[in-house]
Amino acid sequence: MGARSALATLAAVAVACAIGHVVPMLDTAVTDFLYLLRGSRPLQAPVVLLRASSPAPGQARPWGCSLGELARIVRRVNQASPKAIVLAITPLTMVPSGEPGLGELVAAAREAGRVIAPACLLPAGEALHSSKAAKLFAGPEGDLLRPAALRKAVLATPPDALVSAVAGLGTTNLYPDLDGVVRSFPLLVSVDGRLFPSLPLEAVRVALGLPRGEAHLERDAVVLGSLRIPVAPASAEMAIDFPGTELTETRLEREELEHLALSELRQRLHGRVVIIIAGGPTPGAFYPTPGGPGATGGEIVAACIENVLSGRWLRQASLVCVWLLAGVLGMLTMFAAYRLSPPMAIAADLSLLVAVLILVVAGLSRGVVFPGFTLVAAVAFGSVTNLAGTASAAQRARLAAQVEFQSRLQALQRLEELIGTSFHRDELLRGIMRWVTAELNCASASLLILDEREQALRFQVALGPKGPEVRDFVVPVGHGIAGIVAQTGQPLIVNDARSDPRHAKDISQAVGLLPRNIICVPMVLRGQITGVIEAMDKAEGAPFDDQDEALLTTIAQQAALLLENARLYADLQRRVDFANAELRRAYQELEAQKAKLDTLIDQLPSPVLATDADNNILLVNNAFEAALGIRASDALGRSVFAAVPAPEIAALFADPLDNPEGRVVEELQLSRPRPRVYRASLAAVQGPGGQAMGKSLVMIDITELRELDQMKTDLISFVSHELRTPLSIISGFTHLAARRLADGRPDQALDMVQRIDRHLRYTEQLVEDFLNIARLEAGRPLEYRTEPIADVAAMVSEIIEAVPRRTDAHEIVTDIPADLPPVAADRSKLGEVFTNLIDNAVKYSPRGGQIKISALLEGPFVRFSVTDHGIGIPEEAREHLFQRFRRVRGEGRAHLPGTGMGLYLCKQLVEGQGGRIWFEPNPEGGSIFHFTVPVASDGDTSGSGTPAEASHEA
Ligand code: ADP
Repeated sequence: MGARSALATLAAVAVACAIGHVVPMLDTAVTDFLYLLRGSRPLQAPVVLLRASSPAPGQARPWGCSLGELARIVRRVNQASPKAIVLAITPLTMVPSGEPGLGELVAAAREAGRVIAPACLLPAGEALHSSKAAKLFAGPEGDLLRPAALRKAVLATPPDALVSAVAGLGTTNLYPDLDGVVRSFPLLVSVDGRLFPSLPLEAVRVALGLPRGEAHLERDAVVLGSLRIPVAPASAEMAIDFPGTELTETRLEREELEHLALSELRQRLHGRVVIIIAGGPTPGAFYPTPGGPGATGGEIVAACIENVLSGRWLRQASLVCVWLLAGVLGMLTMFAAYRLSPPMAIAADLSLLVAVLILVVAGLSRGVVFPGFTLVAAVAFGSVTNLAGTASAAQRARLAAQVEFQSRLQALQRLEELIGTSFHRDELLRGIMRWVTAELNCASASLLILDEREQALRFQVALGPKGPEVRDFVVPVGHGIAGIVAQTGQPLIVNDARSDPRHAKDISQAVGLLPRNIICVPMVLRGQITGVIEAMDKAEGAPFDDQDEALLTTIAQQAALLLENARLYADLQRRVDFANAELRRAYQELEAQKAKLDTLIDQLPSPVLATDADNNILLVNNAFEAALGIRASDALGRSVFAAVPAPEIAALFADPLDNPEGRVVEELQLSRPRPRVYRASLAAVQGPGGQAMGKSLVMIDITELRELDQMKTDLISFVSHELRTPLSIISGFTHLAARRLADGRPDQALDMVQRIDRHLRYTEQLVEDFLNIARLEAGRPLEYRTEPIADVAAMVSEIIEAVPRRTDAHEIVTDIPADLPPVAADRSKLGEVFTNLIDNAVKYSPRGGQIKISALLEGPFVRFSVTDHGIGIPEEAREHLFQRFRRVRGEGRAHLPGTGMGLYLCKQLVEGQGGRIWFEPNPEGGSIFHFTVPVASDGDTSGSGTPAEASHEA
């Protein structure tokens, strides 16, 4: 057990003890208070108080007067024949046996025979012990509670003479309660295990004429003859019903006693118990009593005797009854609090309190003492419990409200989360409405949107058993609860919808669901009503309340906001979509343009390179890749100085381009990867604000231009050389011929002339070549004078003769069959072809060797072949062999003059006459040139035209 719970247990025990201690005290306090309420009452007739005080203070004794006087009072009283004469003067127990007047008193007592003298219990060891007197008491043995201090007590009695003269002897001991108030009187007291009667009990016994020792004690009553006097169990104390202030009114003063006539005295004292009290200057102790001003011991004894004789004894209500009653009262108050409203419960509690008071007072007046506080406490406890219950109920309600508030807050938060998660309007609205039905615990809920133009509400969401049916209805503004809310903008709660005229029942009847209660709130956005939210049929018929309204209003605000957001979002989405589409289109266009441009740039035959302002490469095209032998993927993003393996280009990019045109044009000669000449144009690229964005380099390949230039130069020198050579030979032969003629050797002169003629024809042929080339260059067709030529062999021999030999190492042979059919050709042009091919064979066989001219009939064609054993033609040069001005470059050729025109012209001439020309490497080394000429037909007698009609199938 922890220290705390131990402490709590201790505290509980202490509180219980305090209550156990305090409650009886409070009970007596309440009873005392009721005495006060009741007021005083006259002492009943059977008892008369007689004060024996002496008028002469000088004679006063502790017992009020001298014993002689007391004896006279006894005698005088006895004359009136009272039932008993009680000497309620405790100090008589202190009278010494030699006291003057004692004999008189003893005699008076004996005469009267009904005098009762006082005895008194004193703590053991005190004086005034009379063991003989103890014998006078005949009573049961026993032990009683209270007073504990006297448990070991001795009995003090008057002098034995008096004791033996009196009819009874009773103790005058009375016990004030803890608060000093005397409320009860012990009818029996115990001394050394024996019970002694009290003065009032002896007085009553004597008055009733019963023998000594008649009284005996039962559990809760002292039984005396037919009397059964209720007493507190274990203490034999009877509760005294004090008469209050009225005690004094039944007094008889000593003077009156002496002056009253005997008859009058008899009238007042006959048949009564006369209690003689001291009443001197020291009339004994004065005790507080309940409901009164207090009393002396004698007065208390009087009240006690009066109570017993008139049967006014007070009974304590049975504890069982009291607790039962308290229980019932408690339950009643609790019941009142449980079932009634707080003010009514308080009224009921007050009524119960009044009833308790009436009961207690009535009980008191009937001799029953109810422990008033216990009952009041029961009511009060009930009330307090109620109050606590009410408070705890209120607390519970508050807690419940708090919990609900919290849960609603959380729910609202969930709602906000829900709103945050999605922009899908319908889904969100459905979510909100499902939330509404769950939060309000209602069967149906709808969200209607206001159609401004048509002044009608349309269902956007309808949840509940009839939701799907309801959805198609349209609610005009002003019609029904939703219509009214849409019109007024005020929330509406209708808890008796079935009888409320505002509820338009058309829709309800149509779908067959009459709602019991309805709550409807407007959705308002910036002061504009945009719709309503409606909920119906709260669970178990509970009415909608202000809280529901507040909640629904909040939700309606959220919903209105959400609808607006959704609208704005949709609008935004539309715009974004449109903008996106535009952008996409523009982008695609741009992409297409770029692709076109890229393709264009890539396809450009000229190398192109572009850089940014820092000379980093942004673009290179295919031509550039090919020209520089680099790859775009390696070059892009790198500095032009690092990526381009051409110092000439790097030097160009090093130029700041600060001239006014922002460009430089330079001729670049690149040796790698192929020797090429370019006209490079580097230009600054400027942004819209004129700022430098980069540079672009375009290189135009002018290698061929340069070559053509070279060719032109070569041609001029060739032509002049080719013409000068035969011309100087002709000139030499002419001089020689002239000399031979002059020498008279005409035969030799003739030989010279024939040589001159051959050279002239070769020169003519040469000139013809140039003319044909010039014609072709001018775009004019060549003219052919086609004829059947039968003597091809002779023609070839002539040509061989005319071809200038640079060395004699050449052996030129022909292999032309004699039965070769005539071919259809222009004689001169066919001769040109032969001349060119044989001339080349000679020229490109610098070390001599055999040159063979052969012919072969191939179908409708004759194929002529010129075979040499010269330097041949390398593989790569063959493709362009027959193109204009194409000369094969390479080893062993540089010194060989030429124009690159011969083969080109041959191809034109052969194809112009319907034939074909091609090259074939000689397997023995050297070259073979083949060409075909159509075999002459009958119609080929003579004619002229441009292209030959014969088609070549081979
Ligand atoms: P060219 O005036 O240079 O001879 P051609 O058109 O007659 O012009 O010939 C073109 C090129 O073909 C020549 O430059 C030569 O290198 C090559 N070629 C022509 N015929 C022969 C051949 N029989 N053997 C080797 N090379 C030849």
